[in-house]
Parts: sequence; structure tokens; C-alpha cells
Amino acid sequence: MAEFVDLAPFTTYKVGGPARWLLNAETLTDLESLGPYPGPVVVIGRGSNLVVADDGFPGLVIRLGNEFSLIAIGPDRVVTAGANAPLPAVARAAAKASIGGFSWMVGVPGSVGGAVRMNAGCFGSDTASMVKTVSVWDVRSGERVEKLPSALDYSYRMSNLAAHEVVVEASFVGSSGDTKDLETEMRTITRWRRDHQPGGTHNAGSVFKNPADDAAGRIIDDLGLKGTRLGKVSVSTKHANFFVAEPGATASDIRGLVDLVASTVHDRTGIQLVPEMVFVGFD
Ligand SMILES: Cc1cc2nc3c(=O)[nH]c(=O)nc-3n(C[C@H](O)[C@H](O)[C@H](O)COP(=O)(O)OP(=O)(O)OC[C@H]3O[C@@H](n4cnc5c(N)ncnc54)[C@H](O)[C@@H]3O)c2cc1C
Repeated sequence: MAEFVDLAPFTTYKVGGPARWLLNAETLTDLESLGPYPGPVVVIGRGSNLVVADDGFPGLVIRLGNEFSLIAIGPDRVVTAGANAPLPAVARAAAKASIGGFSWMVGVPGSVGGAVRMNAGCFGSDTASMVKTVSVWDVRSGERVEKLPSALDYSYRMSNLAAHEVVVEASFVGSSGDTKDLETEMRTITRWRRDHQPGGTHNAGSVFKNPADDAAGRIIDDLGLKGTRLGKVSVSTKHANFFVAEPGATASDIRGLVDLVASTVHDRTGIQLVPEMVFVGFD
């Protein structure tokens, strides 16, 4: 296990301090070798939905390696993927096998584990509606547990998976599809994202969850908050629910801007925006 490892490179925001301990688990045996572990723990997948505090995380951070990146196509349109498999790779593997329902994943730069935990989704689809089984390594008990989606208490961008439950693998069920049509669908989604989101910048996707029947981006935009800046972090001028970090940005700038926008929206509309991003190592 490595000590005091900088976590910023493992996140899309590229900010934040070190992990007190870092376990790069290449295999399940590496997780097993931990035994039952009672201390504070956090898993980092592709780091595309989290902000690590400038002081880092004072516990154990787990990252999964290549053995957890495999994608297998089974019978009955079942796709099984390791938790470290990138979602776009899952979408492309499914399309190649003429399995539909995965195209939305092509534009989400996270991992299968992160998607299962966060119930990632877009364009009217989400992880909860496709997942069939989830295999979890429980760091506290040192045991592998198989879970059905009914046990995960899924709701919008949420599951009941706790920080000590490491998703190691998940299987999903798709629908019948045509490879060419699915590839066209994925190209359309990619183009839409390029046109509407601040690609090529350091961000972590949607900052806030959408309130019921509304969009956080619309609310922030309508209040004229696009371009609002704190230090080296600003509300994107392209999509108001994306906050963009420039080189030299800090995690406290990001957190400060999230709090500032949330309180401005609350004061002026009465709407309480709730962050979708996960804050690691903050009070
Ligand atoms: C440009 C951009 C666009 C995005 N668009 C979307 C979108 O359309 N829809 C959407 O839902 N999200 C979107 N996101 C957010 C993000 O990609 C998803 O939430 C993704 O599922 C997070 O996966 P990750 O591996 O990056 O997780 P991380 O950011 O690493 O972690 C997020 C949470 O999941 C936990 N976690 C990660 N891996 C595991 C694991 N193996 N086991 C247990 N817990 C784990 C972490 O501890 C943390 O709590 C976007 C992000 C970006 C940067």
C-alpha cells in the first residue's frame, strides 16, 4: 500500500490533495489481502464525479486495475463488465454485439463501478433500469457479496451503496439492436454533447441534481450566473450546470462556488439545489 499519494491526477477536475493510503487493487486477491478493514475508505473510479479536498483524504483510497476492466457479452443480451470498465467502452462493445440500450453510456466518462453507485444516466435512461446483478467487495467484512438491483434502493443519481462497498463487477441487460443504428445513435449523442457541454475542460459533469420537472442548468442560467467565478473556477458559459476549473484551481474554490451558486439560487427562487458531485475529504 502506498502512502501520501496525490489524488488530483485520478480525477477529471485535477485538483485535491493526497490519500493517506492508496491501494491499487489489480486483482480481487489484492482486495482480499486487506482482510476486514474498519477504517475510513473511499473508492475512486474514473474520478469524473468527485472533488477531492485540498488536504486530501485521511484514510484508505482504493482504485481498481485492469483485471476489473473486462467486458463480456453473454447470452440473452447480458453484458457483464468489471467495475473499472469505462462506460463508453461498454456502450461500444454492446453496439458491436447488436445489443441496444447502452448508447447513453458513450458520453459519460465514468466507470461501471461509479455508474452503479451513482445511478448514472442521461437521455431518459439510467443504470438502475439496466443493471441485473452487482458484485460487491465489502471492505469492512472482507467478503464478496452479490446484490440484486432491488437491494440497492435506487433513485435519481443515488443508490444505498456505502463507501465501504466496492463494486467489482456488474451485469446489465440490453435490448435487441442493430449495430449500424446503434453507432449512429452514439454519434448523435457525442455530437450533442460537443455542442452543449464544455468539452476539453476540467469539470466533473453536472454539479447539481436536477430538481423535479426542471433543470439545474436552466435555473442557474436564468439567474444570469453563467461566468460567475471564484478563484480559478467558473460557471461554464456553455452549460450553467458545469463548473470549469482552470490550472491553479483549488478544491475549496470549487466547493465555494458550489455553495455560492446554491445559496444564490435559494435566496432568489426558494429552490434548494443539491450537489450531484461527491465531495471527498471535506467536513
Ligand atoms: C463531461 C462529463 C459528463 C458527464 N455526464 C454525465 C451524465 O450524462 N450522466 C451522469 O449520470 N453522470 C455524468 N457525469 C458524471 C460521471 O461521469 C458519472 O457519475 C460516473 O458514473 C462516475 O463514475 P466514476 O468512475 O468517474 O466515479 P467517481 O467519480 O470516481 O466516483 C463517484 C462516486 O462513485 C463511487 N465509486 C466509484 N467507483 C466505485 C466502485 N467501483 N465501487 C463503489 N463505488 C464507486 C465513488 O466512491 C464516489 O462516491 C459526467 C461527467 C463528466 C466529466
